[in-house]
Amino acid sequence: MFVDQVSVYVKAGDGGNGIAAYRREIYVPKGGPAGGDGGNGGDVIFKVDEGLNTLMDFRYNRHYNAKRGENGMSKNKHGKNAPPLVVDVPPGTTVTDEDTGEVIADLTEHGQEAVIARGGRGGRGNTRFATAKNPAPELSENGEPGQERNIKVELKLLADVGLIGFPSAGKSTLLSVVSAAKPKTADYHFTTLTPNLGVIDTDDERSFVMADLPGLIEGAHEGIGLGYQFLRHIERTRVLLHTIDMAGIEGRDPYDDFMKINHELKEYDAKLLERPQIIAANKMDMPDAEKNLHEFKTKLHDEYPVYPISALTKKGLRELIFALADVLDKTPKQTREIDETEEKVVYRHQKDDTPFTISKDSDGVYVLSGAKVEKLFKMTDFTKDEAVQRFARQLRGMGVDEALRQRGASDGDTIRLMDFEFEFIE
Ligand code: GDP
Ligand code: MG
Repeated sequence: MFVDQVSVYVKAGDGGNGIAAYRREIYVPKGGPAGGDGGNGGDVIFKVDEGLNTLMDFRYNRHYNAKRGENGMSKNKHGKNAPPLVVDVPPGTTVTDEDTGEVIADLTEHGQEAVIARGGRGGRGNTRFATAKNPAPELSENGEPGQERNIKVELKLLADVGLIGFPSAGKSTLLSVVSAAKPKTADYHFTTLTPNLGVIDTDDERSFVMADLPGLIEGAHEGIGLGYQFLRHIERTRVLLHTIDMAGIEGRDPYDDFMKINHELKEYDAKLLERPQIIAANKMDMPDAEKNLHEFKTKLHDEYPVYPISALTKKGLRELIFALADVLDKTPKQTREIDETEEKVVYRHQKDDTPFTISKDSDGVYVLSGAKVEKLFKMTDFTKDEAVQRFARQLRGMGVDEALRQRGASDGDTIRLMDFEFEFIE
C-alpha cells in the first residue's frame, strides 16, 4: 500500500538539569559554587534522502523521541548535549503541526534539514546564579522540556508531469509503455488506486517523472471518490498531460470529457488551469478515432497542443515525449508551491502563546495553566528554597499574582499548577 499521509508523535529531548555544587577546598568549609549546567536535549530533525520515495517507514514507527541532555556535574562540569535524532524522509515531504495547523517544514531538496521539535535548553548550575550578594547560591535550574508535538507528515509526489483524464482513457497504459513503471490496467474504472510514478528518458538524454494518479471523476473537488486524493497530488506537477479516449469507446464525447475534467481542476484550484497542458489524443488505432479527433479540434477554442497517439500500438509516443520534455525545459520548478508555503509560514509563525490562564475549580482552587508557566515550573528544582523563591519572582514578574488577585484570590487560597499545589500569600 502506498502511504502518503501519516500522523506521528515527536518529542525532542529535555535539557539536562543544572546542579548546585560547591568547591571543596581544604580549610574552606563551603567553597564557591561549582555546579555545572545541564546539556541541551536533542532536536528531532527531518532530513531529505532522495533515495526514498514513500513514507512507508512512518507506518512502522509513529513515535520519535530524541535523547535528553546530560545533567550538570560538580567542579563546573557541564552535561553533554544530546545528539539530534535525524529521521530520513523522501523529497516532497511536508510536515504540519496537527494541533495548530502550522506548516513546520516543506522538504524538497536532497540533504535539506528541518528541526521538527526543538530540544530543551540545559538547566543552569548554581555557578551561573552567583552574585556579589549571594556568592554561593543554593539555586539551580532543571532542564527545559523538549518540544513535543503531534505532526502530520505528508508526501506530495514531485512528479513533473501529471496524467489527467477520464477513467479508461488509457493513462495507466500510456505510463506503462513510456516508462519502466508497470501499473495495473483494466477495463473497469478506478484501476489506479495508488499513484504510480514512472521515469521517462528521452532519446536525447533528458529525463522526467510522470505520475499516473487515482482517477479524476466528476465531483472530485467535493471529495467524492478518489478524486480529491488525486487533486492533492496533481498540485505539484509542472505540466499536465490530458489523455483523451478519442475512440469514445464508452459512448462518451471526447470534447465533453475534456471540458469536464478541466472543470474539476478549476473548481479545485483555478491556478491548475494556468499550468501548461498537452493533449494526448489516445486510441487512435480505433476505427472512429480520426473522425472524432477532427471534430474535437474544431470544438477546441483554446490553444492546447494535440498529439494523436496510440498507447496500444505505441504510435506517436516519441513526438509526445519530446513535446513534454520541451515544455518542461521552459517551465520553472515548483515556483507556485514555494510562494504558497512562504505565505503559510509568515502568517502562522506569528501566533503567540498566551503566557498563562487562570480558572477556578468547583472545589475553590485556582487553576493556573499555560505553556510558559508550565515550562518555568518544570525548570524549577522545588527541593531548593532559592529555586522556589525564584519561581515565585518569575510568576510575579509575569503578572500572575496580580491576575490571581483580580480573580478574587486572597491570602491562604490554594493555587494549582499541573500536579503541584501552593498557597497564595499576599
Ligand atoms: P486509465 O483508467 O486511464 O488508466 O486507462 P487504462 O490504461 O487502464 O486503459 C483502459 C482500457 O483502454 C484498457 O483496456 C486499455 O487496454 C485500453 N487502451 C489504452 N490505450 C489504448 C489505445 O491506445 N488503444 C486501444 N485500442 N485501447 C487502449
Ligand atoms: Mg489507470
